Amino acid sequence: DMHLLEDEDYKRAHLGQGTHTNIYEGVLHVCSGVNGEDETEYFSTEQNNNSRDVHVVLKMLDPSHRDVALAFFETASLMSQVSHIHLAFVHGVCVRGSENIMVEEYIEHGPLDVFLRKNKGRIMVGWKFTVAAQLASALSYLEGKNLVHGNVCAKNILLARKGLEDGLLPFIKLSDPGVSFTVLSREERVDRIPWIAPECVRDVSNLSTAADKWSFGTTLLEICFDADVPLKERTPSEKERFYEKKHRLPEPSFKELATLISQCLNYAPGERPSFRTILRDLTQLQPDNRLDITSVNPEFP
Ligand code: ATP
Ligand code: MG
Repeated sequence: DMHLLEDEDYKRAHLGQGTHTNIYEGVLHVCSGVNGEDETEYFSTEQNNNSRDVHVVLKMLDPSHRDVALAFFETASLMSQVSHIHLAFVHGVCVRGSENIMVEEYIEHGPLDVFLRKNKGRIMVGWKFTVAAQLASALSYLEGKNLVHGNVCAKNILLARKGLEDGLLPFIKLSDPGVSFTVLSREERVDRIPWIAPECVRDVSNLSTAADKWSFGTTLLEICFDADVPLKERTPSEKERFYEKKHRLPEPSFKELATLISQCLNYAPGERPSFRTILRDLTQLQPDNRLDITSVNPEFP
């Protein structure tokens, strides 16, 4: 149960722009009802004894076509149906006149790509494996429910704990996928190469859990290479040709991990392994922190 107040103060810092969205930091005011039930009052600035403020992000959809707005609501609905320690929590969605806003938990240390770039060359292999396994566990959970995320990339992985101090592990949460790519233009889909699965560039109705496996493979590459994205410098038509010619993305020199990644980056969706298998393989690989996985295999064509 929630309602809105006519107050513009709820919006704080602008965090960035996404696909048809703008993200702001915000505060969610949660008050306890008299009968003990939680009554959620969004964006209120009032205080009372039984209330608490929750740090959130407000993901505001740009003025959009009806189909895009529907896809945005579908995402909000997907995210509020699921519950997993490595998935960002979505409080709900608000409609304020023509504004559509998704309210998501604020995750302290921001996106993984920014973090990896900032700490280039300092992140240990074990740390990276932990993040990969946490991501695989969230995706395995979705796979078990036959749900597709559709926008897995390092930018959409948020760090709840950095895990740089001795004895602490990182803790990640996968953010919501935003506007589903099924309503994006071909140009916008091409822009998502190499994360988007090849079969989905051609035809959006090919979206399935297999598509998440391809994106997972690309995300593992990003993690290995400290957020250095393959094909980053290429033009849209070069990217498209890359997929059409079924070229392979660069692989890391660490053989076992390279094998796992190449299984995910299989042009035949049906041949990609299940996340259950991926998770098992990841936990069986015993990473040695002295290994350098940031380098590209020199034997790679
Ligand atoms: P997309 O749907 O394409 O992922 P988006 O609207 O989610 O788009 P992003 O580019 O993913 O936009 O995020 C914009 C910025 O907001 C990023 O810099 C990220 O740091 C920040 N951000 C997004 N979600 C959260 C969150 N839950 N907690 C903290 N920061 C966040
Ligand atoms: Mg995002």
